[in-house]
Amino acid sequence: MGSPLHYPADDANTPGNRGWLGTVLVALGYLWAGPNTIVAVAIGLLLGGRFETVNGVIEIEGSRIAAVLSRLPVPAAAMTVGHVVFGRDRGWLQVTRNHERVHVAQYAKWGPFFIPAYLFLSAWLYAQGKDGYRGNPFEIEAYAVDEPKD
Ligand SMILES: [Zn+2]
Repeated sequence: MGSPLHYPADDANTPGNRGWLGTVLVALGYLWAGPNTIVAVAIGLLLGGRFETVNGVIEIEGSRIAAVLSRLPVPAAAMTVGHVVFGRDRGWLQVTRNHERVHVAQYAKWGPFFIPAYLFLSAWLYAQGKDGYRGNPFEIEAYAVDEPKD
């Protein structure tokens, strides 16, 4: 949680001043993930989703987004693309917020390489007969935030 690229899920967890380096890294993360974010915003507009910004992350939900998320190869309650999180509805956006914020930070680090890296790892795991979703290191990191830490 000490990473400057950590995106808090609620105001109570909002870090104070990130320092100049942290602020620059966050700005670079927005730029680096920008192409993904722009495509996601366009998809959200096309699907007529409702937009809300929560702590620097755009959350988009609506019935057509819910329909798309439910038809994915791994049906999802929410999905992150750049600094955008799509959710079936506000309730799901809230429940999945900690998990999806980890993916936002991953996009900020990996930028245009995030989706290829994610898909490559999933395909590689599937090819070995393993779980390409829960076995994916990006998902392992994201699921870890909601696990109790003693
Ligand atoms: Zn995930």
